[in-house]
Amino acid sequence: MPDTTNNPARKTWIPVPDHSDFPVQNIPFGVFLTRDDVITIGTRIGDTAIDLGAMHQLGYFEGIPLTDDIFLQDSLNDFISDGKKTWRLVRNRIGDVFDADNPKLRDNKEHRHIILFDLDEIEMQMPVFVGDYTDFYSSKEHATNVGTMFRGKENALMPNWLHIPVGYHGRSSSIVVSGTPIHRPQGQTLPAGSETPVFGPSKLVDFELEMAFITTDANNLGEPIPVDEAEDYIFGVVLLNDWSARDIQKWEYVPLGPFLAKNFASSISPWIVTMDALEPFRVETPKQEPTPLPYLQFNGKKSYDVKLEVDITPENGEATNVCKSNFKYMYWNMSQQLAHHTVNGCPVNSGDMMGSGTLSGTTQDSFGSMLELTWRGENPLKMKDGSERKFIQDGDTVTMKGYCQNENVRIGFGEVSNKLLPVFEPKKK
Ligand code: CA
Repeated sequence: MPDTTNNPARKTWIPVPDHSDFPVQNIPFGVFLTRDDVITIGTRIGDTAIDLGAMHQLGYFEGIPLTDDIFLQDSLNDFISDGKKTWRLVRNRIGDVFDADNPKLRDNKEHRHIILFDLDEIEMQMPVFVGDYTDFYSSKEHATNVGTMFRGKENALMPNWLHIPVGYHGRSSSIVVSGTPIHRPQGQTLPAGSETPVFGPSKLVDFELEMAFITTDANNLGEPIPVDEAEDYIFGVVLLNDWSARDIQKWEYVPLGPFLAKNFASSISPWIVTMDALEPFRVETPKQEPTPLPYLQFNGKKSYDVKLEVDITPENGEATNVCKSNFKYMYWNMSQQLAHHTVNGCPVNSGDMMGSGTLSGTTQDSFGSMLELTWRGENPLKMKDGSERKFIQDGDTVTMKGYCQNENVRIGFGEVSNKLLPVFEPKKK
């Protein structure tokens, strides 16, 4: 089943603005609420949202084996369970329907009115029900930076780091979609020089620039996924801001790793960009030295060139860019992460989400967290309005964007953008 959607020469009859993340070659998947308050699975071309539930009811997926209600759902989990062959058939068909030379929907005003929406007529929802969330720690630069700060230069990388794609089990109940405001968390911290902790609002709320992949049902209990088959079980990728409270983290993380410092919120971009759409942007993975154990050795190009950036926008203020990075810097690739995750027989299900870990590059302006950008607050960043930031302040909006670009086409992720609110205040009884 070849992919025909990526043909860079294809034009569409839907208007696509210059530099749009969503040309007809992208065809991502998401879930939205329509102007009629109906929840549906959809895609997007340019600034037009497309109701796949309505397209299916009107017969546009004829000949593809799909259940009648596959797109009339509040999550993509069942569609993702249908597997790679079906994803590709559906994506190819969408590309065909919106091809500039295909009159079927283009010239059917009544159907267009049912299927197409302006972006201001819809509200994006969580694209999947995330059953399990795992967060890796796969950027060598990030691990080295954080290790240097917490343990000194000589012990920056733990002895296991170059052998294992290190990760931990996160919490799926607090994964939210772009646009959802997030409260500053409270918790225990240990003030400098003190031997006993205090309780209160975190003073060091941070973002983590990450990407995350969404899996399909991959394996049964006991069954590992070989590294060179792993990509068959990855549906697609989103942007992830893995919000973190550094002061809470520092006090709690020994010996079992992060807990409440990380699970108060993780936010994702609403459109899942498929692995097929990313195919033209494969690049070599950073050289791995020492050679990993055989179950982590892979063939071919397993990294992806996705340009990433982070803006901070103060309340009523102007956006300031604070970071430019790239998904390709990640040391352990997604295939290795999934092979490692399942090598002990741990099952992975449809809708599971795996975070990359903070994606830092080698230069100061490519670090993927405030912790690194300001080096624990020692070098505050200047905002355009003249104010300074060591960490994220109440009222700040953190926006992450990402896109791939070659000479033919730009495939983007849109954005994940969330505002930090003050600590939650209980309603007065
Ligand atoms: Ca993280």
